[in-house]
Amino acid sequence: MPASTPAHSECLANYVGGAFDSSGNTFTNLSPVDGSVVNRVCEADAAVVNRAVAAARAALAGDWGAMGDNERSALLHKVADGIERRFDDFVQAEMADTGKSLWQARTIDIPRGAANFRVFADLARQRASECFHTTTADGRQALNYAINKPLGVVAVIAPWNLPLLLLTWKLAPALAVGNAVIAKPSEDTPSSATLLAEVMHEAGMPPGAFNLVHGFGPDSAGELLSRHPDIDAVTFTGESRTGSAIMRAAADNVKALSFELGGKNAALVFEDADFDAAVEGTAKSVFTNGGQVCLCTERVYVQRPIFDRFVAALKGRAEALRIDWPDSPDTDMGPLISHEHRDKVLAYYQLARTEGGTIVTGGGAPHFGDARDSGAWVQPTIVTGLAEQSRCVTEEVFGPFCHIAPFDTEEEAIALANASDYGLAGTVWTTNLQRGHRVAQRIHAGIVWVNTWYLRDLRTPFGGVKLSGIGREGGQHSLNFYAEPTNICIQL
Ligand code: NAD
Repeated sequence: MPASTPAHSECLANYVGGAFDSSGNTFTNLSPVDGSVVNRVCEADAAVVNRAVAAARAALAGDWGAMGDNERSALLHKVADGIERRFDDFVQAEMADTGKSLWQARTIDIPRGAANFRVFADLARQRASECFHTTTADGRQALNYAINKPLGVVAVIAPWNLPLLLLTWKLAPALAVGNAVIAKPSEDTPSSATLLAEVMHEAGMPPGAFNLVHGFGPDSAGELLSRHPDIDAVTFTGESRTGSAIMRAAADNVKALSFELGGKNAALVFEDADFDAAVEGTAKSVFTNGGQVCLCTERVYVQRPIFDRFVAALKGRAEALRIDWPDSPDTDMGPLISHEHRDKVLAYYQLARTEGGTIVTGGGAPHFGDARDSGAWVQPTIVTGLAEQSRCVTEEVFGPFCHIAPFDTEEEAIALANASDYGLAGTVWTTNLQRGHRVAQRIHAGIVWVNTWYLRDLRTPFGGVKLSGIGREGGQHSLNFYAEPTNICIQL
């Protein structure tokens, strides 16, 4: 099926009810690499959002709602095929919007986008439901079983750090169990989502089952979706502060909410750790994607006997990182997502000095002497000597930044890791097996890695506690959110 209007004709279009829609205002998407214009984007206003909601509702009442599990699963595999067929286009789109390295876009972002559809297409088809043979006190018997029904119309609001990966992490399970969705990517990363709309269209997704609206948060598409009375659920990944704004907007209609929010993740490095593996793993967990992964480590606690050696080794790793053009094969780190975000991260670097910290390395922006000086680049930065209550140790920076502090005992390390308003992830480095289990189990976070970082199985529960989120995604946990059971009771 050809797209009714090419999505990229003049500006990136919205996709509503099976057609590309270029009506309304536009905004500019700038490259974080050098500040140049990547593309213009159509901003969905209230009329577009209303049309998307009506199209989604109609899809549920029509072909999409009537489709069986097997057919839906096959369709989602076709979407994954479409992503793989246009793999290079997706890689280019993701790099243009984010400045992330070719290596990362090719090995993490785009493959995971396709994998998300395959995993949830298969899991949803194989889903079992519960059944009880009931005997009541007065001697009656019944068969009680549950059927899982989609929530209805689901708004998917996604961030910019892993644009396709995180958008599809929600879209795939929501569609796999039969919801109609309205996707809103970040205003900073509209390109791969628009390609996805083309892929959905080409795969033959029934009109209205998948809709895409571009725009911002407050007073724009994000808020319009969160407040919309005919949307049943909002699934959101982004900042904790935005999560609470969405919660307030969604409260009047008591919408179902799933939130993956911010983090201030701790790594605990014990003196019995494999030193080189701990340094290498911590460098990855601090600097991957320029620190712009919610799971990145920003607080490193190192047992005192190896503290100085560890700080020196991590400094060496930070200074060896190749900060370069995204398409250079050796690039380790690209720019941050935007000039606005760069200013925020640089303000934290400055704050670290004001709060009395020692800048071990970095602390500013690199100078290139070429077009990149108009981009959103910062140096990888390590700080020591800050008080645990300081803003740099308690607030999420979301850049290539960490603070390293010493500890003496296991008990103290656990207390330091848990002394945070966030609770997304933690990492423990030790060769003592018992300590690994013992400490991991006491860290108050949604995921704890021992002697590794970011090793993921898409079937496991994923999410955060405290300010880091509500609910769990991954495998059956995602399906449990996007479909609700109805109990059917048959008296025998
Ligand atoms: P953000 O909260 O600024 O924006 C995320 C999305 O929400 C965007 O699409 C934005 O347009 C929209 N939005 C903003 N304000 C809104 C409002 N009032 N109503 C409705 N929608 C609104 O987050 P970001 O800067 O794009 O992403 C970075 C943040 O995301 C970090 O805090 C990071 O930790 C978090 N994150 C969490 C996870 C996780 O799984 N827990 C994963 C990735 C990123």
